[in-house]
Amino acid sequence: MSLRFRVLGSGSTGNATLVEGEGVRILLDAGLGPRELAERLQSIGVDPASVDAIFLSHEHQDHSKGAASFSRKWGVRICGSRGTYAAMGLGAETIAGYDVLEPGAGRAVGALTVRGIPIPHDAAGPYAFVVANGGATLGHATDFGHFPTALLDAFRECDAVLVESNHDPDLLRRSAYPWSLKERILGPRGHVSNAEVARYLARGLGDVCRTLVLAHLSQTNNHPELAEATAVDALRRRGRTEVAVSITNADGTGWIAVGQPPPAGQPGGGKQLRLF
Ligand SMILES: [Zn+2]
Ligand SMILES: [Zn+2]
Repeated sequence: MSLRFRVLGSGSTGNATLVEGEGVRILLDAGLGPRELAERLQSIGVDPASVDAIFLSHEHQDHSKGAASFSRKWGVRICGSRGTYAAMGLGAETIAGYDVLEPGAGRAVGALTVRGIPIPHDAAGPYAFVVANGGATLGHATDFGHFPTALLDAFRECDAVLVESNHDPDLLRRSAYPWSLKERILGPRGHVSNAEVARYLARGLGDVCRTLVLAHLSQTNNHPELAEATAVDALRRRGRTEVAVSITNADGTGWIAVGQPPPAGQPGGGKQLRLF
């Protein structure tokens, strides 16, 4: 029932997360260039051709940029919503194959099951993912404007949760971004803020969750310390000091185990875990 993951890249420069369990490897998003993606895998001893499937959350470049070329070069099938397929124009490109993931339905890849949960974002058919291997479950959601009930329900049983903590609204309002872009990010189909994540942690985080990763932080409109402090404070107020909190930046993380207590002397047990 082993399950572990590591973020290979996060944020506007490119998102990809490798998930591994029972000899099965999947990528959640492929937003790095195909060569960069292959190099990051090889640098951790993973043969790109050994990846069993790429699951795409949505068509935006920072999540999909390397998908088609990687699929073609390494013979890896892509899986995602019908909307993502149409929006990427994949029909015109040669890829190893595309499997449609219906909303809420599970897809088995070896021992792993991946479920696509519809989330509110200005894309064609965006998904959060729940990856399960037996009793170990990971929830993975970036690029969404608010927490819908279906996402809260799907994540309630997750042992580890990765969510975006994109911006601080005050920093965003004061930034040099054009107003139209600020409106898009702040809107209900944009990105969630540190405060929205804090509200989720205060009210929605499931009792079984022991690992929280904050991802997709804006380099312009957020500070890692601010995102981390906001989340830790929300957890502390709820008495959830057993949840290990970490933040990923563009360089990703090390391996993070899902559903297993951290070994003695390792982060966890209320300590914060800094992985970059
Ligand atoms: Zn994004
Ligand atoms: Zn997006």
